[in-house]
Amino acid sequence: MKLILRNTLSGRKEEFKPITAGKATMYNCGPTVYFYAHIGNLRAYLFVDILKKVLQWNRYEVKQGMNITDVGHLSSDSDEGEDKMTKALKREGKPLTMEAMKEVATFYEKAFIADIQAMNIEKPELLPRASDNIAADIALIKKLEENGYTYIISSGVYFDTSKFPEYGKLGGINLEGLKEGARVNINPEKKNPADFNLWKLDDKLGWESPWGKGFPGWHIECSAMSAKYLGQPFDIHTGGVDHIGTHHNNEIAQSESAFGMPLAHYWLHNEHLNLSGVKMAKSDKDNFITLHTVVDKGFSPLDYRYYLLGAHYRSPMTFSWEALESARNARRRLLDLLSGKNDAGKINADYLEHFTSAVNDDLNTPEALAVLWNLLRDERIEIDDKKTTAFEFDKILGLKLEESIRAISEEVMPASITGLVIKREEAREQNNWIESDRLRDEINKLGYEIKDTNSGPKLKKIM
Ligand code: AMP
Ligand code: ZN
Repeated sequence: MKLILRNTLSGRKEEFKPITAGKATMYNCGPTVYFYAHIGNLRAYLFVDILKKVLQWNRYEVKQGMNITDVGHLSSDSDEGEDKMTKALKREGKPLTMEAMKEVATFYEKAFIADIQAMNIEKPELLPRASDNIAADIALIKKLEENGYTYIISSGVYFDTSKFPEYGKLGGINLEGLKEGARVNINPEKKNPADFNLWKLDDKLGWESPWGKGFPGWHIECSAMSAKYLGQPFDIHTGGVDHIGTHHNNEIAQSESAFGMPLAHYWLHNEHLNLSGVKMAKSDKDNFITLHTVVDKGFSPLDYRYYLLGAHYRSPMTFSWEALESARNARRRLLDLLSGKNDAGKINADYLEHFTSAVNDDLNTPEALAVLWNLLRDERIEIDDKKTTAFEFDKILGLKLEESIRAISEEVMPASITGLVIKREEAREQNNWIESDRLRDEINKLGYEIKDTNSGPKLKKIM
């Protein structure tokens, strides 16, 4: 069956044809690690995880690279304002040093990895850090300089977009609009409003370069790292729709001007997660929910995964706690329907085909979930076959169905100690921690470990 993907470059759905038969290379614009990821950012990485799993489902060997931007991302898309990492140092009351910057970046990079893993998003095999690839940025800027695409102003080296006639081709950007001042804070030294920074001079922080001390621009980092780790061209480039207008058009302008060939063949973009009608954004504290908050409110990160699967990646979503609750109920119902002893069954060929045609139609996960529910409701199919087929679908859905069901069956409390568990809960309600710890020890002695979770105490036999 053909794998169809919607390519922002052509504005159409196209059959995926890789550069090398049986292989797929993909680059995903990754996090700027100056703060926690919000659940909108996590939508971008869930989309990438589904894309990767669908490619693997279609038997492609996937090579995936995602950047960690730990330097050089200026606050505004028009390349003005402060570097986001410098802003983070000020916010956290840290000194303006490279060491402190590294410390902040390491902290938020770890938080990012923990978040994606909690949502069962596979960690990309290549996670290059911008700060480890400065030499590649400098080499690329030099190449652009040699080819005559750059100029220097007081704040650094800039790309001259008038030298790249196709500028703005991704998503059909209106350059006339830009000329009329659509990009705010236009730097009067720039030759054209869309020109962007390649190397930002900074007399206090940064790396030495042929143009002086400073930082690479955010756009050059992605062009340099994607080509270094995946080659140019590679197959698929992803990001949120907010990256189409500026960041990805800038990547295309740089990479094509340097090497005279495309950067990537397919450009895929996820729509936003909005809150109260506005895009969730790291710079907006009132419009920002993290995975921690989701968990603190008693949801599993897999409830959030299920919630995201319920919408196509190209449909905007408006987050609400009620919708997340519905997702939690649906996921629990799924586990209920699939619970019980596992005997090996057969994969149902018809449902497998329906499922494949859903995911191969530009990653239609809502349709894929509908196929799963139809399978579970189908009375003609044996429970063992249902389970085996559902577990096969879960290779893409990533809801940890098999693991979760096993965990549930371990939660059954033996009658002999149910009383002790109830007594311990009463002690906990009265904040009687000494008694509750004593009862925990007693339960342990009887061979069970008790774990307090958001949905109540869970028992596990001590092996
Ligand atoms: P950042 O760390 O801000 O560079 O963003 C990381 C990724 O999240 C990028 O691919 C963005 O396009 C994407 N993104 C940012 N905000 C949202 C949102 N509210 N909904 C979905 N994706 C987003
Ligand atoms: Zn990027």
